[in-house]
Amino acid sequence: MIVDRDRIERRIAAAIEHLRGPRYSRSLRAIQRHAYIPEYMATLAYFTAELESLGFDVDFDPVGTLVARNRPVGTPVVGLGSHCDSNRNGGAFDGTLGVVVAVEVCRSLSELEIDVPLQVMSFLEEEASGFGELLLGSRVMLNDIPRERIQELRSIDDGRPFLEHASEAGFCPDALDRSGEALDDLIAWIEVHIEQGRVLQDAGVALGVVSGIYGYIHGDITITGRGDHAGATPMNARFDPVPAMAEIVLELERLAREAGADTVATAGEVDVAPRLINAIAERARLSLDVRSLDGGRMEVIVDSVTQFAVEAASRRGLSAAYAERGRAMGTGMNPEIVQLLEDCAEAADVPHLRMASGAVHDTLMVARRVPSAMLFVPCRDGVSHSPDEHANCGDAAIAVDVLVPAVCAAARSGTRKGRS
Ligand SMILES: [Zn+2]
Repeated sequence: MIVDRDRIERRIAAAIEHLRGPRYSRSLRAIQRHAYIPEYMATLAYFTAELESLGFDVDFDPVGTLVARNRPVGTPVVGLGSHCDSNRNGGAFDGTLGVVVAVEVCRSLSELEIDVPLQVMSFLEEEASGFGELLLGSRVMLNDIPRERIQELRSIDDGRPFLEHASEAGFCPDALDRSGEALDDLIAWIEVHIEQGRVLQDAGVALGVVSGIYGYIHGDITITGRGDHAGATPMNARFDPVPAMAEIVLELERLAREAGADTVATAGEVDVAPRLINAIAERARLSLDVRSLDGGRMEVIVDSVTQFAVEAASRRGLSAAYAERGRAMGTGMNPEIVQLLEDCAEAADVPHLRMASGAVHDTLMVARRVPSAMLFVPCRDGVSHSPDEHANCGDAAIAVDVLVPAVCAAARSGTRKGRS
């Protein structure tokens, strides 16, 4: 199988450039497209036309995840894709590159006259920019969001319900429960995504083979003290929650470092009330974002920092309490597919690195039902969720080169398993 990398690189670059245009982004300064806005629907229409020209039947799940196949429903297929929505100040590569690469794999196979049973997907609303819920399309598909919560979801733009927007966009949210059927025929799933970090760039390799996706626990620690006059209250008569908050932030950092590789923790939101230069705060709050491949390790960090917070607060005559916002467990990728991708990278002489993903992706959900893996393409300086986001389309072409033999092999072994 000889893939013309230069030609694929040019086509990927042209597609990314095209999808930066005014038809596909609400802003010209950054990429802005979230579920159901005209620019998002135009992006789906673009991919629909590309896939139809390659002989795919394009369909949508009940909320608008694009599902394109070159075999009838009921036939085993290998899945490829990502998402094509952006965050509200996004770059041209996050998600979209994965769908463009999936289309290029289909095109390359067609040029090589190799017929592989494939399904391309572009998940709805991965970024939470339209309705505030991360991985919305894939979580709906995996039945991971309670029905009542889905009914409560409102558009960040106009406050109207998600389900109303879905049906106005031409989808059939009444059939929500049938969304999971889109995964029924998948024997394997591979998502290509930009790394969004700088591990690959620093290692000087063109491709990351993802071994697992971190889970996360999100929560808040609130410390309550007593508001007072900043000048008139002596240092030994204060119940100031801010120094306690500072100790807790440092302890969180220490715990995460101590946990070692594949675990990170961030206090990304800190606030105090009231926020006045001449007053001792009455209350302070810090958010916790703890991520790891290992669910137990995340729990240990959250429990330890909570206990530390309670003690640190009580030493100062304050109180502290933790409340969880939400969590998702991490997942390992399918070892056979990971190995297959590494073998194909080796065969194509592509320097690669096995690594975990600190960011969540739709594949976190898909992997619950389908043997899954991901490939990372380096992104410049690790910058993502920013208009400055940039990836080398030559690296994306390398991903296509690795995926072409990989999907052939995955289809063959899946068919064998199906027969046995
Ligand atoms: Zn993404």
